[in-house]
Amino acid sequence: MENKKVHVLSDEVIGKIAAGEVVERPASVVKELVENSLDAGAKSVMIDLEAAGQGLIRVSDDGQGMTEEDAMLACEHHATSKISAITDLDSLATFGFRGEALSSIASVSHLLLTTRTRDSDSGVSIQVESGKVREVKPAARAHGTTVEVRNLFFNVPARKKFLKSDSTELSEIINVTGRFALSYPEAEFKLSHGGRVILHAASGLDQIGRIRLVMGQDVAEGMMPISYRSGKLSMTGYISKPSVTRKDRYSQVLFVNKRFVRSKSITDAVMDAYSSLLERGRYPAVALFLEVPASEVDVNVHPAKLLVKFSEEKMIKTHVYDSIVHAFSVLKRETGGQDTTLEENTFGSTLGLPGGMAPSQRLQTQASFEYAVEPERTAFLGGGLKVGWEGAPRGFTHEGEPLFQVGKCFIVRIKDNGLGIIDQHAAHERIFYEYFSNAVRSGSKEAQNLLFPVRLDLTARDAEVMETATEAFCALGFKIEHFGDRSYVVQTVPAILNDADIKSVIMDALGDLSSRVGRKIDHIDEMIKIMACRAAVKAGDELSEHEMNSILEQLKKCDLPFTCPHGRPTVIEISVEDMEKMFRRN
Ligand code: ADP
Ligand code: MG
Repeated sequence: MENKKVHVLSDEVIGKIAAGEVVERPASVVKELVENSLDAGAKSVMIDLEAAGQGLIRVSDDGQGMTEEDAMLACEHHATSKISAITDLDSLATFGFRGEALSSIASVSHLLLTTRTRDSDSGVSIQVESGKVREVKPAARAHGTTVEVRNLFFNVPARKKFLKSDSTELSEIINVTGRFALSYPEAEFKLSHGGRVILHAASGLDQIGRIRLVMGQDVAEGMMPISYRSGKLSMTGYISKPSVTRKDRYSQVLFVNKRFVRSKSITDAVMDAYSSLLERGRYPAVALFLEVPASEVDVNVHPAKLLVKFSEEKMIKTHVYDSIVHAFSVLKRETGGQDTTLEENTFGSTLGLPGGMAPSQRLQTQASFEYAVEPERTAFLGGGLKVGWEGAPRGFTHEGEPLFQVGKCFIVRIKDNGLGIIDQHAAHERIFYEYFSNAVRSGSKEAQNLLFPVRLDLTARDAEVMETATEAFCALGFKIEHFGDRSYVVQTVPAILNDADIKSVIMDALGDLSSRVGRKIDHIDEMIKIMACRAAVKAGDELSEHEMNSILEQLKKCDLPFTCPHGRPTVIEISVEDMEKMFRRN
């Protein structure tokens, strides 16, 4: 070791090192080659594989092709036609710019490049082995380029050892190809393995068709389009309807300027926009296409360009959040607030139907509620809860239509054209949730001083919780004073709670809070959800006509009436048409 000197590495070693960064596995080869095809303006990209890409990866396109001279150069390190000065990075409109992919792939495989431009009489084919050009000869082909990569990693056994099973490598290639199919709906993509076509996005297949193909029928089914522009930013794509979320978080794909990326800040903004609509452990599916001026985004921060850096991160987050919330408001306008698209099994089991229903039989969204224009919110528990009300709830009406309470849990409206079923607790919870959220956001608390302050004598554990929660209670409009030892006195409550049983609402909330041992209520939203749940009427509470009407009225005024704060639906509409389908009348 002593007499070893610093020396420059040989080209071969440099090549292999560079390849390690760009070419991690067969799927990365597919990604780089398809990017080159798209950069060359291809409208049709064919990918053929043998042995999950380890035997052969062939990508053929109908793009602009290369001259012989360019093709020879293309296989060298840092040879690119896409940028020439560092400032070009600010106006980048291509996937590639480093000039590293072809040379890297060539240094770890047997590569054959065949290409022809539109203007030349014949094509050329160049054979490269371990990064060295072995043979150049004329070749016949239509304009475009074909790159064949054989025996990937034949000279890097360590890399080969780290590859996963064929099926894993193959499924990663399918993922990569699927993402291109999503972001380039105008181009055709065909992926075959051992001669068998495994993914084919025809050129006429539109974006939602491609989402169905790539992300699955059931994901696509529950999505709605989104389109939003503000200033230099625009967002398009498809997102889950609020009531059709998923158990897995993997159905979220994100593209920035057509480039597939992972971005925690964007995913966070998506989750924030859905926050009050999601049950714990449920996630929206999204396919989002964000367009940002090239100067605002740095794509040169990751070897495979999977991560990007925004110059104004906060502005991007706000834009993502706004575009989703905007889509919800459009949905509300179009459906009158009733997002009743339900998942098959929910619907099937609710109505005791055998098996799942065909997608076409799903409930159609239907307009029924009109929205009051004035945003004023009135307390509606004025009459107090009549728990244990006796007698059959008959003869009640809402806007002239018959109204029933069923199973002490659901409010049912009977209309000429169908039924509306409202979950009384979920609906009421949504109402309280928005009321408290508005109070916290606007800082204007409609509070009400209690004539007889309520005294609470707490257990040690609850007193502990109260200490950490007083501020949050206060933000919602409560005034709670420490009265020595473990006693507290409630002086003021939010006006909406008026006649509710203050003591049990607060005690229940403390109970919920203390069950999250050791967790401070650092998120006011959590407190709001708890209070909304505890203040709302429960399943099992009998409601008066006035209470039922108030719930319906107040729900109409909510910004997001479709679900409770935990994401369960508040209303299900069943039209006569739906009934006909259920009874197989047509
Ligand atoms: P980069 O894409 O970063 O420029 P690559 O090594 O991937 O670097 O490609 C080098 C060059 O070869 C490209 O800049 C482009 O000019 C050319 N090239 C590669 N693939 C194709 C293709 N399918 N069609 C036309 N030109 C191509
Ligand atoms: Mg490239």
